[in-house]
Amino acid sequence: MRMLLVDDSVTMRRIQKTQIGSLGITDILEAGDGQEALGKLKSNMPIDIVLLDWNMPIMDGITFLKTVRADPTYAGVKIIMCTSESEKTRVMEALKAGANNYIVKPFTPEGLKEKLGL
Ligand SMILES: [Mg+2]
Repeated sequence: MRMLLVDDSVTMRRIQKTQIGSLGITDILEAGDGQEALGKLKSNMPIDIVLLDWNMPIMDGITFLKTVRADPTYAGVKIIMCTSESEKTRVMEALKAGANNYIVKPFTPEGLKEKLGL
């Protein structure tokens, strides 16, 4: 399983990478904004799951989500929106735009496992 972590916080990505690694997933790519993530997605298919931060510079998570969902090439890519507690009300917008699920940060490996359906 190949996963793409998208978050502008290097610290957050490091934490997530450790947690995902503890689930036995080691094929992990990273991007610091939506635009970088589009490039990584394009050149590293097949990617199974994208863990997507909302607030990022250059291109935010919701713009990335809408761009990816407009392209049938990536129809099989699962996208999980990572939100903070205060952003929970925006979850509906992400689900309407094609996110498969969402998870509230900071999450535990168990919580992530559940959201991934593993
Ligand atoms: Mg952010």
